[in-house]
Amino acid sequence: MAGMLYLCATPIGNLRDMTTRVVETLRSVDLIAAEDTRNSIKLLNHFDIKTSMTSYHEYNKVEKADYLVEQLQQGKNVALISDAGTPAISDPGEVLVKKCQEAGITVTSLPGPAACITALTLSGLSTRRFCFEGFLPSDKKEKAQILEELKEESRTILIYEAPHHLVRTLEELYEALGDRRITLCRELTKKFETILPTTIENALALYGKEEPRGEYVLAVEGKSLRQKKEERQASWQSMTIEEHMAFYKEGGMDEKSAMKQIAKDRGVPKREIYQYLLSK
Ligand code: SAM
Repeated sequence: MAGMLYLCATPIGNLRDMTTRVVETLRSVDLIAAEDTRNSIKLLNHFDIKTSMTSYHEYNKVEKADYLVEQLQQGKNVALISDAGTPAISDPGEVLVKKCQEAGITVTSLPGPAACITALTLSGLSTRRFCFEGFLPSDKKEKAQILEELKEESRTILIYEAPHHLVRTLEELYEALGDRRITLCRELTKKFETILPTTIENALALYGKEEPRGEYVLAVEGKSLRQKKEERQASWQSMTIEEHMAFYKEGGMDEKSAMKQIAKDRGVPKREIYQYLLSK
């Protein structure tokens, strides 16, 4: 019978956040695949876990996933842990999960800490709707495209960032989104945990004076629906009513529906548009 893959969330800074189920599972599986074995050995020693470990990281994720699938097919139970937090969130875990699913191997998740969710709950921004960006891509073109998409994002945006790239990322966010509310969540669950609700502009001023230190999650306020509506209205106002009408007619709308929509876009009564067009 094939074994099972267990995705085991581990602490993001505070060892007491390790769950009992993760400790028990790491002790009982045949093999632990870890993103950084030198780092994870400290965790295993702390909890007296003697299971053997193998490395599974960004640079061996494809071949190593094949090897792990083979082990699972031979009946071994495997646990996956990342450097910290939930496996498959901004780490190579997703490749292994996909390959296991393709091979018909059962995958289960033992939930626990994830920096993004911890930050979201502390951000003071809307938690009802959010999106997770992880690290912004290092490729300039790809990053520009994502920043362009984020301009219109109305959900709270969660971004991971390393301290040495923080200022650059804040500058890029400021350039793309303008000034927005942002909460900088630093060193979560650790001794120097700091939650700083501020604006992008003020954060830039702060880090012009002091160097960023530690691990960060950025929670950025989404564009408000009111702002979106105002911008849309402003863009219609820059057109003449004839241009506005042509726009909808070219899109296949009949004259009556177009008049109704134009009135709605401009926030005026339908009769006003009708009378204007009649007078032409
Ligand atoms: N799998 C992890 C999770 O579940 O959150 C994320 C791994 S990702 C490689 C590492 C990034 O997560 C860091 O660069 C930082 O942005 C964020 N992070 C991890 N631990 C953190 C902490 N204690 N405080 C703030 N951010 C943290």
